[in-house]
Amino acid sequence: MLEALNDQQRAAVLHDGGPMLIVAGAGTGKTTTLAHRVAQLIAQGVPGERILLLTFARRAAAELLRRVDGLLGRAASDRPASSRVWGGTFHSVATRLLRQHGERIGLHPSFTIHDRGDSEDLLDVLRAELELGRGKRRFPRKGTCLDIYSRAVSSRAPVDAVLARGFPWCTEQLDGLKLLFRTYVDRKAEQRVLDYDDLLLFFHALLGTEAAGPAVRAQFDQVLVDEYQDTNALQAELLDRLCPGGRGLTVVGDDAQAIYGFRAASVRNILDFPEIHPGTRTVVLAENYRSTPELLEATNRVIAQARERHPKELWSRRPSGERAELITCSDEAEQTEFVLGRILERREQGMDLRRQAVLFRASHHSLQLEVELGRRGIPFHKYGGLRFVETAHVRDLLAFLRLAENPRDLLAGTRVLGLLPGVGPRTARALIEPVQRTGSFEGWDTAAKVPAAARAQWQALVALYRELGGPRPPALPVQLHRIRTFYGPLCEERYDHVTARLRDLESLEQLAAGFTERAAFLGELTLEPPRSTQDLAGPPSLDDDYLVLSTIHSAKGLEFDAVYVLHAADGNIPSDLTTGTPEEIDEELRLFYVALSRAKRHLAVTFPLRWFDRPAGVGGRHAFAQLTRFLPPPVAAAFELRAAFPEAPRPALPPADAFLLPELRGALKAFWN
Ligand code: ATP
Ligand code: MG
Repeated sequence: MLEALNDQQRAAVLHDGGPMLIVAGAGTGKTTTLAHRVAQLIAQGVPGERILLLTFARRAAAELLRRVDGLLGRAASDRPASSRVWGGTFHSVATRLLRQHGERIGLHPSFTIHDRGDSEDLLDVLRAELELGRGKRRFPRKGTCLDIYSRAVSSRAPVDAVLARGFPWCTEQLDGLKLLFRTYVDRKAEQRVLDYDDLLLFFHALLGTEAAGPAVRAQFDQVLVDEYQDTNALQAELLDRLCPGGRGLTVVGDDAQAIYGFRAASVRNILDFPEIHPGTRTVVLAENYRSTPELLEATNRVIAQARERHPKELWSRRPSGERAELITCSDEAEQTEFVLGRILERREQGMDLRRQAVLFRASHHSLQLEVELGRRGIPFHKYGGLRFVETAHVRDLLAFLRLAENPRDLLAGTRVLGLLPGVGPRTARALIEPVQRTGSFEGWDTAAKVPAAARAQWQALVALYRELGGPRPPALPVQLHRIRTFYGPLCEERYDHVTARLRDLESLEQLAAGFTERAAFLGELTLEPPRSTQDLAGPPSLDDDYLVLSTIHSAKGLEFDAVYVLHAADGNIPSDLTTGTPEEIDEELRLFYVALSRAKRHLAVTFPLRWFDRPAGVGGRHAFAQLTRFLPPPVAAAFELRAAFPEAPRPALPPADAFLLPELRGALKAFWN
């Protein structure tokens, strides 16, 4: 099983006992080493359920465990598979352990989870209740409030420090914010809801108690963490409590790929790991197995520009291939045309669509490409961007289900009631009050005062919740079906594109068939929501071939034979949405590095020019003014520079300071003589 590995990788797989840090650049086999280590542990007889594998996304955990199974299959076919290994994100593992042990810290097991949208909404309600928006100074909006709250929790820093560092324009609102957050904590407790941050915070607290901490610790022999550079301070403390002294802890990462600083991840976690855990074994990997030497030359040069970094020059002995390409396009349409052409060409040559990926900084950068793919009937999956469960109709449906699970979930309750005709926020709150207070739907009266337009639906709703919220609710798909029957007509009245929406609701009902527990279903959808209904279908079958479109953030850890990076223009990469501090620019550079280092054999970076400069008599010259600042000439020298369609005829544009050809302008003006 270990034959394929190099010496450092093998040593890491076989390491026994104390804390271990594997730190290395992209494509050096960090994740591969983790997979081998899990397989090796199982082969040695460690029971799967005593291994905890933490990854950044559920998809990544599933993929890793598939590899483990592959390895074990070869070593000994009668071994049990990896199915019992605890694999998942910090949040999903926290949820499972809180459901398992929460009662020991007095956490009621019926808690529901608020996603980001819910959390913002609740903050907004409290912000209004506390009349914080009333003062002379503008109080931050709900999204900003949540960012501040979340950053304080994740980075374990007091609110004033968070404001000073990241939100200086809000420092005057310190007292108001603290009041808001205290009220927020109380209100969540009353409603028995946890937000994303609470999952980690409560898990951390759980580990700190005598009642539950030792039991949870005793559950695992080995804890392994991939992409450790993107963990935050709270997660590091959590691991500390889970593995005191770093015993049985393996973390893996690359400081040059830290891209979640904007969400309070701290690259210090990985840099300081050996100091915090004396006796750490540090393993460094330098051979890159992913990319051709030509592509590696390009990515090495890009990342060498980082201000603060641990120098790591990667090398590769893979057969040499094409150089990376830097493609200038006159506009976005040309970029789309070029990328599509390349993709289809490669597919003709036998490279499946699924081995090719188009990456971009912001979700909307791929819109034009998506339209074109749709027009030509080319299948694709898109990762990142607006998620399926963030759409209004899906949120409505889940609110129905959440309310059944937890009658005290006020946001779910007001959302459901607000769907009834003529019921505004005030009536909704009055109607939900008895249920909130008693935690039971028995408090609902079919004869309660509701607007005339809603009377029939009100009675149906009460009946629905007597059934769903009662002691013996029907099977989950039946529950969804009942909700859909009730909600369908309301949805049709409320929204446009009804057919597509109703189809989404149907898919959810089908998905529910795979779950027995309502709470587990809700947890799954809230924690790592599918991006589209296609995602709900589970892993596509092997004959399905589709192109991957992904934001760079969502492409972390993946690799493809061919990678196309769109819109490499300043303003997009680096994004002009960052405030432009040196730290943020550095993070954007690392992000660009993550994008480029996904490629195995072909890499094309495209950028649309907004103008084309052609000085008289000198053939033609691209104006590079908009090219990303991360490709200055010495770096760009590692790329093949070319125009997307050099032979295409181009109109002669006037000099930059003129609007039209002077003779034309003269003619237009002459009309008024
Ligand atoms: P990233 O930083 O992007 O997450 P990584 O360090 O986790 O990269 P992997 O994804 O584990 O790298 O490996 C990159 C590629 O190299 C994979 O295709 C993997 O199969 C291959 N690889 C890793 N180690 C070896 C090895 N010893 N021999 C041959 N191929 C290897
Ligand atoms: Mg990896």
